[in-house]
Amino acid sequence: MATNEASSEVRQSSEQRLAHVNQLRWQKFPVLDDGFVCLVDVMGDDSSVVQAARVSYGEGTRKVSDDRTLIRYLLRHRHTTPFEMAEIKFLVRVPMDCWRQWVRHRTANINEYSTRYSLAIDAAQTTESDRWRGQAESNRQGSGEYLSADLGQRLTAEETTLQDQMRSVYQARIDAGVAREQARKDLPLSTYTEAYWKIDLHNLLHFLALRMDSHAQLEIRQYATAIGEKIVAPLFPLVWEAFLDYRMQATFLTRLDTAVIQRLTAAAAARGAAPPYSEADFLQAQDPAWAGLNRSRERDECRSKLQALGLLHAATQ
Ligand SMILES: Cc1cc2nc3c(=O)[nH]c(=O)nc-3n(C[C@H](O)[C@H](O)[C@H](O)COP(=O)(O)OP(=O)(O)OC[C@H]3O[C@@H](n4cnc5c(N)ncnc54)[C@H](O)[C@@H]3O)c2cc1C
Repeated sequence: MATNEASSEVRQSSEQRLAHVNQLRWQKFPVLDDGFVCLVDVMGDDSSVVQAARVSYGEGTRKVSDDRTLIRYLLRHRHTTPFEMAEIKFLVRVPMDCWRQWVRHRTANINEYSTRYSLAIDAAQTTESDRWRGQAESNRQGSGEYLSADLGQRLTAEETTLQDQMRSVYQARIDAGVAREQARKDLPLSTYTEAYWKIDLHNLLHFLALRMDSHAQLEIRQYATAIGEKIVAPLFPLVWEAFLDYRMQATFLTRLDTAVIQRLTAAAAARGAAPPYSEADFLQAQDPAWAGLNRSRERDECRSKLQALGLLHAATQ
């Protein structure tokens, strides 16, 4: 009797899971102006990670709370292979410049739309006039503030002209009989491509950690966030929770950071001061190797971490 009850419970939850997966499959989650991410197939769920790990750790109790504890332990301690037991296949539609960053992740399997075989997709990513970003001052790779509306209107008008012209040159080459593989060479990087992208859960989390991060370019960040929040979170709720807690929303302290905190708090305790401390206190406690430098990225990163921890005034930078 108990066995029947248990197996019907398992059957019911796997039926629920199947319904959930079927509801998600082929649902296109929009990204940018004409892109999307969509779940094609998934192998495994939270319990696949647990099942694989139990080969290492032996049979334990099977309550959900234990699964949660085990998944959180594995993620915290970077015991990664159990996460490789689940795989997800996506269909994505992405502008070429973003795709160029995406395909640097070598641990996925890709099959991409061929512009040698077929006509290039007739869509290019466009930019609203209020969405042009200035160059970041603090980071040579990143974006800063949005540019003015006047400038934005001009930039968007130029973008439209350029994309129209590039497309009509491409079309004229095709009409003149130029091979598709050669006709495409001047298409802009804003042209959309489509691809199947299959990856195991461990490497997907690695991709998401890098590409959802604020240092990643906004466009690929939007794709990664859609994949994470719309697809991974509902399919692997326990893994997703642990990923947010221990990877995305965690703070990594280096040996130097820890020493700064120790000096900062010891000096504050000696004079009876409470946090948040001042910029002067921080500079007093900084690593000696940073002290002679006008600019130090490592010092800036340490400062940001201490601000996030509430140890420094947020506006002291
Ligand atoms: C914010 C940001 C800025 C970037 N800027 C630049 C840039 O300016 N120029 C540039 O060229 N790239 C840049 N990149 C790309 C970056 O260097 C990586 O190529 C990309 O993020 C893929 O990471 P990965 O190799 O860890 O991922 P994957 O290729 O998915 O690999 C996952 C992991 O598998 C292992 N692995 C995979 N293949 C190998 C291998 N052949 N040998 C050994 N180990 C392997 C590694 O541990 C690796 O971390 C940037 C990435 C980010 C996120």
